[in-house]
Amino acid sequence: MSRRHSRVLAAVLAIVDDAAITTSIAFRRRRKQHWIGPTKKIIALVFESPPVMLDYVSLEADLDQEERMIRDTAREFVDEHVKPDIGDNFEEGTFPTELIPKMGELGFYAPNLEGYGSPNVSETAYGLLMQELEAGDSGFRSMVSVQGALVMYPIHAYGSEEQKTEWLPKLGQGEAVGCFGLTEPEHGSNPSAMNTSAERDGNDYVLNGSKTWITNSPISDVAIVWARDRSVDDQPVRGFLVETDRDGVTTNKITDKISLRASITGEIGLNDVIVPEENVLPGVTGMKGPLSCLTQARYGIAWGAVGAARDCFEQARQYALDRDQFGGPIARFQLQQEKLAEMATQITLGQLLVYRLADLKERGDLRPQHVSMAKRNNVRMARDQARVAREIIGGNGITTDYSPMRHMANMETVYTYEGTHDIHTLILGEDLTGIPAYQ
Ligand SMILES: Cc1cc2nc3c(=O)[nH]c(=O)nc-3n(C[C@H](O)[C@H](O)[C@H](O)COP(=O)(O)OP(=O)(O)OC[C@H]3O[C@@H](n4cnc5c(N)ncnc54)[C@H](O)[C@@H]3O)c2cc1C
Repeated sequence: MSRRHSRVLAAVLAIVDDAAITTSIAFRRRRKQHWIGPTKKIIALVFESPPVMLDYVSLEADLDQEERMIRDTAREFVDEHVKPDIGDNFEEGTFPTELIPKMGELGFYAPNLEGYGSPNVSETAYGLLMQELEAGDSGFRSMVSVQGALVMYPIHAYGSEEQKTEWLPKLGQGEAVGCFGLTEPEHGSNPSAMNTSAERDGNDYVLNGSKTWITNSPISDVAIVWARDRSVDDQPVRGFLVETDRDGVTTNKITDKISLRASITGEIGLNDVIVPEENVLPGVTGMKGPLSCLTQARYGIAWGAVGAARDCFEQARQYALDRDQFGGPIARFQLQQEKLAEMATQITLGQLLVYRLADLKERGDLRPQHVSMAKRNNVRMARDQARVAREIIGGNGITTDYSPMRHMANMETVYTYEGTHDIHTLILGEDLTGIPAYQ
């Protein structure tokens, strides 16, 4: 029995009253119930690992049919296509690009948009999708949220009819891949200081500059490039659709990452790249363009981080039940139980926050600062809990046979991209006091 594919049978005994089982942990996969004794009903739930999906306060009980279906589809996709190879992908620094159209077929790219092939599912359904994908690996959630929230969303919100018709169906199906070019080598947390420029030349624009740390850029067909329009007096930031096969575009891969390894990251070089004016996103001018996209993506990250933390919890809990030391499972030690209790509590608090955000988003009351709070809190929570989970798994925990160390490494990126933890602190600080403290 290999560790990677461990199929350890475990039994949980629950003493219940005459009513149905009310445990709030849903046991999935090959569940068997053994009734022991007619009066005192002791139920042994026998399952294969990893069996639990932590939902301690039964938030999933309120999901509608479509939301359950999307959650289950994503869980099955992760079980079948992500988990078996993710340790190898992480070690090798590869992303299985052959799954990109498969994820399109399953409707993973921006299903919360309406029209052009997108079904306009609920914000809860979208969040659950992000949660399940990140339970697999942050690299998958990153690929999907860049494609959906950072590429399809701006085209949908600010694009011309021609841009929408040309790109949204292809991107939605995973027949084309997109990336979002905002960060520059000298401008990360302060993207408004960007140097990338666009100069009008007749009916065209000429783009120059460089972007870095761009998820998907080496495999992209199109990049949304944010650049300052130098032909206008106040040099506003504009969004440009730049096909990556245009002359002067380079997309070198960044290879030496030790976080988010199962994700393709690169640069975008723009050297006198000519794009027609039809490639400008007509519906937005200024930093509102990129920042509004980031709000969409950060919403998904806040959900996704809960998925990563939940996966860590499940692995740690199972390990604690399976691992014997000093004559019995380490789960019987109070020290280990305290860790599990704290993990379950923190994950549940993170879940409550994102479910509330979904309601606010649905009714149009979600503010970017709400999203900052959730991204900031949930990613920190996942980063902290991944470390605790690794601790419970002991020496085995530092291998790719178990997910927590991989999630922990991934969370270093997630903590930093889409606004660092510090920047979200400053956003909240400004919202709470009215005083900006960025400079
Ligand atoms: C794997 C990966 C994928 C990414 N994908 C994309 C992508 O697809 N598209 C894209 O455009 N970008 C992407 N990014 C870039 C990411 O958004 C930036 O790394 C992030 O915004 C931080 O910028 P920086 O790395 O330049 O850090 P800096 O801005 O240089 O910050 C360094 C440190 O200083 C702190 N700091 C900065 N300003 C302040 C301040 N005012 N007060 C207090 N502390 C401050 C920061 O919190 C941080 O701790 C990605 C990054 C990574 C690592």
